[in-house]
Amino acid sequence: VPAVVWLRQDLRLTDNTALHAACQAHRNVTLVFTATPQQWEQHAMSASQQALILCQLRALNIAAAALGITLHIQSCSTYTDAADWLAQWCRQHKTPAVYANNQYGLNEQRRDLRFAAILPDTCRFYTFDDSVLLPPGGVSTQQGGIYKVFTPFRRAFLNILMQTTVRVLPAPKAQGAPVTPADTGLTAQEHPLFPSGEDTALQRLADFCQRDAADYREQRDFPALSGTSQLSAYLATGIISVRQCLSTLRLNFPMVADEPESGGYTWLSELIWREFYIHQLALNPDLSRHRPMQRWTESIIWSPDSDALTAWQQGKTGFPIVDAAMRQLNETGWMHNRLRMITASFLVKDLLIDWRRGEHYFMSRLVDGEFAANNGGWQWAASTGHDSVPYFRIFNPVTQGKRFDPDGSFIRRWLPELAAVPVKYIHTPHEWADKNQYALNYPHPMVDHSMARIRAIEAYETARHTA
Ligand code: FAD
Repeated sequence: VPAVVWLRQDLRLTDNTALHAACQAHRNVTLVFTATPQQWEQHAMSASQQALILCQLRALNIAAAALGITLHIQSCSTYTDAADWLAQWCRQHKTPAVYANNQYGLNEQRRDLRFAAILPDTCRFYTFDDSVLLPPGGVSTQQGGIYKVFTPFRRAFLNILMQTTVRVLPAPKAQGAPVTPADTGLTAQEHPLFPSGEDTALQRLADFCQRDAADYREQRDFPALSGTSQLSAYLATGIISVRQCLSTLRLNFPMVADEPESGGYTWLSELIWREFYIHQLALNPDLSRHRPMQRWTESIIWSPDSDALTAWQQGKTGFPIVDAAMRQLNETGWMHNRLRMITASFLVKDLLIDWRRGEHYFMSRLVDGEFAANNGGWQWAASTGHDSVPYFRIFNPVTQGKRFDPDGSFIRRWLPELAAVPVKYIHTPHEWADKNQYALNYPHPMVDHSMARIRAIEAYETARHTA
């Protein structure tokens, strides 16, 4: 009887810890994926990420069948249903063991606890830390606590990483003659930016490490350039692993951890940010409950203005860099990191809207939506995290635009209504339009940034003193 590998955010055959372990111990394995549309909706998973998952399952189904491995896709509604259904399936099929890779959100942890509790005694449940380079809890302070600040976390992380052998595990060997791929009935459309397939993702990783990683440090902040890897949706769904990222990086930069000035090191740091937030999520269940790390920020009185929220969501704030970024998000499901920081800061500080509303909107649109990174990024921008931008240091959206899109080429790509505006005024188009009596089909800035800045600082200070 085959063992079961319960797939989740690890939709790949190569370097899949649970799958590899199952194949070491059993002659036959079956892959099982439980789709949980109601749970995904509760978690605000975007339609584009759902489609990427389905496309990848379609690809996996074919790749696994060639190895004689079947993939069973079951639609359940919630995690509870998924755990119940799989336990029942294991009982029925007398499954000897289930292998799965850990997920670290609270609901995911609860699902696995429930599953372990209702599984028949004859079936073992093995779980693995797979989506991380080091297991959560494995990087602790000298007092045994968790690091709350990134830089010392990175230092400790790198120390341990240097003493750890990071191995990329092979795909399973064929377990028999190829089988005919089951008809999955999946009809999802491929995402233009993130086509499915492990090979596609690995090729992008190899190209980035060979070609772009060396300049990553200089280029990564400029959204008009394609200076970043655009691997996020592959990492979020597990089409590639973080170990594959590290090992490909090391192939090109063998001494990467010792070269803090290099592009490779800067990119490695981003992978460690990813790890930092996942560790925080795993060890602090309050994050899954959307509670701020800095408790005093719960007393901030947020603006209930839903028209302002809509203007931000639709990219109609009158601040070109913010609007171009939001349109990139709405149209492609991806947004450049610098722009995530600028738009998040704008929503929270300029509009004084609760960061959780932005966190939710991002999740509902991002193809790479990932709870830990998204929550971490929002808490950073909202100054509610432990290692966040200080609440009194507030991004000026015009200055940010001038700095990171100096000639406005990113803005022009997304805001064709500003085509006539000269470079000098691309960040303040109404200044030019007023001077030239030009009727711009583009909103005026919805807030006065310097007043909004004062309002935000006051709201934070009031909360700090009352909490
Ligand atoms: P690269 O610059 O090439 O980085 C490589 C990988 O490192 C990324 O694919 C990602 O997995 C990881 N990474 C990079 N930066 C960060 C970071 N700051 N925090 C955590 N991981 C990072 N990233 C997500 O994957 N999913 C999200 O839902 C998400 N939401 C965010 C929300 C906000 C408000 C902010 C400020 C950042 C968010 N990020 C999120 C982090 C970051 O913006 C994206 O990972 C990055 O833009 C993805 O593009 P890339 O693959 O080209 O990244």
